[in-house]
Amino acid sequence: MEFAYSARLAELKQRGRDLAKKLTAFEDECEEDGRLSPTSRRQVKEIVLESGLSSMNAPIEAGGAGLSCLEQVVVEEELGALTNGLWAAVWRPTAALLIAATPEQRERYLLPEIRGTRFGGRAVTEPGAGSDPKAIATTAVRTPNGYRISGEKWFVTLGDIADYFVLAAVVEPEHAPTMFLVDKHLPGVECIEMPKYTHQFAYAHPHFRFTDVEVGHDAVLGAVGDGLRLSQATFFEERILVAVHALGAAERALASALDWARDRVQGGERIIRHQQIGAMLADSAIDLAVNRTFVHQLAWDVDRGSDLKTLNAKVAMAKISATEAAGRVADRAVQIFGGRGYLRSNPVERIYRDVRVDRIWMGTSEVQRLVVVNELDKRGLDGLVHFSDPATV
Ligand SMILES: Cc1cc2nc3c(=O)[nH]c(=O)nc-3n(C[C@H](O)[C@H](O)[C@H](O)COP(=O)(O)OP(=O)(O)OC[C@H]3O[C@@H](n4cnc5c(N)ncnc54)[C@H](O)[C@@H]3O)c2cc1C
Repeated sequence: MEFAYSARLAELKQRGRDLAKKLTAFEDECEEDGRLSPTSRRQVKEIVLESGLSSMNAPIEAGGAGLSCLEQVVVEEELGALTNGLWAAVWRPTAALLIAATPEQRERYLLPEIRGTRFGGRAVTEPGAGSDPKAIATTAVRTPNGYRISGEKWFVTLGDIADYFVLAAVVEPEHAPTMFLVDKHLPGVECIEMPKYTHQFAYAHPHFRFTDVEVGHDAVLGAVGDGLRLSQATFFEERILVAVHALGAAERALASALDWARDRVQGGERIIRHQQIGAMLADSAIDLAVNRTFVHQLAWDVDRGSDLKTLNAKVAMAKISATEAAGRVADRAVQIFGGRGYLRSNPVERIYRDVRVDRIWMGTSEVQRLVVVNELDKRGLDGLVHFSDPATV
């Protein structure tokens, strides 16, 4: 067992930290305006390109950074310290594209996305289909030249800057869940709402309507009927990122609360010496250390190619545990700051709002618990709570 950073991981961690530091300069603008101005977007993009950390999940030969899962975790934890969703500025193609794009789709979508000249939004959720993807009502009806897509997609993150969607629809009449690549400029694609959310985010999560949108046969990503598998592949990667972002946010909140508690004097004592405040700090340090260890071990497991079904349940465990811990840490940090913790100018207040969604998107905590219990029922306890056996990896 080796629990120290290698020289390579330490270097990546520092690069992630440097990038996050540069992007912190844009937090106040996002908080004030609820978005980034076009000028700031250009600056952010240049900073991200310079860092060499964009598309870190994509292979080097395609122009990505080619990082392993553990390497990505180490970088993304640093980016998680950014409030207002600025971590999303460090773009990456969806796993579904990396896995299933044809050579033509790679040229048209994947390579430009890696270069930062195109962006995709993931359009899965609908008014009647959230946790239950089998309820998806968006249809793709066969036509002589391809498919005609109709339906509504909600909460499309990056939908404002995306110029295409990775969209889930059911092909009729066989009712086969399928992923499509749909260009945003096509006739029949309409943004119907730009809702406001609890957090202020660098980009938007709009709702879209698709009315008789005509696409060719070449718009199918993977195969007809492959939609749920591809959607799962996307979530697998993104859930690990959600877990690790939450920990980056939690560390920033805790570090800030700790500094404050060491300095602030009330009742003749530094507040860290008041037992109730000290206990909150201790509990937060435990939440952070335990979850960080588990998420890193999970990423290491992913890189070793352990059994996918078990890994999927471990990813669910990591997402539940890390995001719920981050919620507790952020809540305590606000409390430790007192009234100052409730000021929007305090990053701790923003983290408190920011991490709330991590228990909802990419699979709610409740549904992730179902994934864990399902694995327990099918394969028992060992795979989830023991370390990998050398013979199996
Ligand atoms: C800011 C934001 C950004 C998002 N970005 C995207 C995006 O880019 N693309 C995209 O496709 N979607 C996106 N989503 C949607 C997100 O993934 C869904 O909100 C989430 O999957 C939950 O679906 P829902 O909101 O319909 O809630 P529901 O599925 O209706 O759930 C409501 C409640 O019931 C619980 N529940 C549901 N089923 C069960 C069950 N079987 N057992 C126990 N409890 C259950 C849930 O846990 C939840 O507490 C985003 C959401 C938000 C808020």
